[in-house]
Amino acid sequence: MTDNAVSGNNFLRTIVKEDIAAGRLSGELVTRFPPEPNGFLHIGHAKSICLNFGLAKQFDGHCHLRFDDTNPAKEEQAYIDAIQEDIRWLGFEWSGPIRYASDYFDTLYEYAVYLIGQGNAYVCDLSADEAREYRGTLTEPGKNSPHRDRSVEENLALFAAMRNGDFDEGSKVLRAKIDMAAPNINLRDPIIYRIRKVSHHQTADKWCIYPTYDFTHGQSDALEGITHSICTLEFEDHRPLYEWFIANLPVPAQPKQYEFARLNVNYTVTSKRKLKMLVDEKVVDGWDDPRMPTIAGMRRRGFTPASLRHFCDMVGVARSEGIVDVAMLEHAIRDDLDKNAPRAMCVMDPLKIVITNYPEDKVEWLTAPGHPNRDDLGERSLPFSREVFIEREDFREEANKKFKRLVLGKKVRLRSAYVLLAESVVKDELGNIVEVHCSYDAGTHGADPEDGIKPKGVIHWVSASHGKQATVRLYDRLFTHEAPDRGGEEFLDHVNPESLQVIENCWIEPSLADAAPEASFQFERTGYFVADKVEHSNVAPVFNRTIALRDTWGKESDV
Ligand code: ATP
Ligand code: MG
Repeated sequence: MTDNAVSGNNFLRTIVKEDIAAGRLSGELVTRFPPEPNGFLHIGHAKSICLNFGLAKQFDGHCHLRFDDTNPAKEEQAYIDAIQEDIRWLGFEWSGPIRYASDYFDTLYEYAVYLIGQGNAYVCDLSADEAREYRGTLTEPGKNSPHRDRSVEENLALFAAMRNGDFDEGSKVLRAKIDMAAPNINLRDPIIYRIRKVSHHQTADKWCIYPTYDFTHGQSDALEGITHSICTLEFEDHRPLYEWFIANLPVPAQPKQYEFARLNVNYTVTSKRKLKMLVDEKVVDGWDDPRMPTIAGMRRRGFTPASLRHFCDMVGVARSEGIVDVAMLEHAIRDDLDKNAPRAMCVMDPLKIVITNYPEDKVEWLTAPGHPNRDDLGERSLPFSREVFIEREDFREEANKKFKRLVLGKKVRLRSAYVLLAESVVKDELGNIVEVHCSYDAGTHGADPEDGIKPKGVIHWVSASHGKQATVRLYDRLFTHEAPDRGGEEFLDHVNPESLQVIENCWIEPSLADAAPEASFQFERTGYFVADKVEHSNVAPVFNRTIALRDTWGKESDV
């Protein structure tokens, strides 16, 4: 990987560099990416992946993949599988085995027992409502729980009974004994274990008590020898608690937590909970719907790993929240595909052209470049015949000078082929044009007409007798509102009703039918498209529009 995603500068790279220079790292740099397997990864996670795996790569360290699986009720194996696939597709590989926070449940249980033994944890019977009352507010200290002073022996016995399944869910919790008057509410005797009588995707029915995220994360970092535990800003207030556990438990290492700002993108929601709602309410067709800002969705839409890494690199890493313009993401993919996607032709709204002076059974295989300035992308062969399709909007019976396409009595060039002159139209009884009869100038393949009058326009086309039929799906932004879920907006109200338009019976040049799923193309004059990962086949080709050729949001297309 040669892009900047693993080499540019940001404040976390500076911290790592300084730690290395000052000899604060006894061994290698170790980071981790810790997704909770409760949904598919989205563009925000891509940023975290590029950051964590990128740092490890840059400093010859390691990055672990650790599923942060402390909430079994919302987690699923399908998510675990999808997350691994997405990370690898983005171009990263974790060090060592796949890790799970649940791998440490035994140790975490021992740590909890240790805390009780030190007089630093107690079993509390307050209900959730009572606990809220006792917790106090940002401006008022909390009150001690009436169970705070239980003896070590009583706590040990109660905790063992909790583990044994003797109590109902919600009837008891284990809390760290820190300080109910702490200004930071996270330190007001936080819950560290809950009773949850649910089966876990990794540990099955071994446990009926589960540690909280706060009691799990830092200790897992320590157990894995993570040196830099990088998370998003909402965990900044949890850092004192992270440090308290590390200081008060017999952990084997002293990891440190660093925070950076989440990636927010306008016209987009990046919250697994909300993305799950879009899936559950069938607003979209699954987590990998090409309109979803999930990695799987963007992949199916035709984004490339390099474009996403480049985008993550461009947005940088900051300490304060901001909102990135989705146009930047669109630019990243447009730029990549412009340079790398082979060209091809597809007619979406076909109008038949009959070339009256072209022999009925003649076929010529014309060569066209794979890409205008990439010789390495080779050439393609385009069959040319008496009947071809062009876009209906590329023909007019009459037009002013601004219309540089085919007009009755005028000429146009067919891309990589001949110059045509439109001579007459055939209409049905309703007056719709069903055919345009043209003549072609046989001397104009790769040459100007002899009369020196060059046609002003070049249009795309497909041979009617060789083209294949395809389904084309035109995708657009999923939301019409710039901030669909901010400022009290109900994001489901802002779904773009025109985010998907399916066009059946498009005509593609024949070689496109053989495109491998996930192969990207520029369809000349119409946009960048990808052969659908799931549904495209040689017999029923399906192409998804990744992005239009130009940004048409906010300004009219000039085509
Ligand atoms: P969500 O709010 O979408 O459910 P999450 O933070 O709960 O996201 P996790 O699976 O816990 O999702 O996240 C795994 C890692 O990815 C965490 O380190 C988290 O901080 C990071 N991450 C999640 N969302 C973003 C984002 N928008 N920008 C940058 N990093 C993110
Ligand atoms: Mg989370």
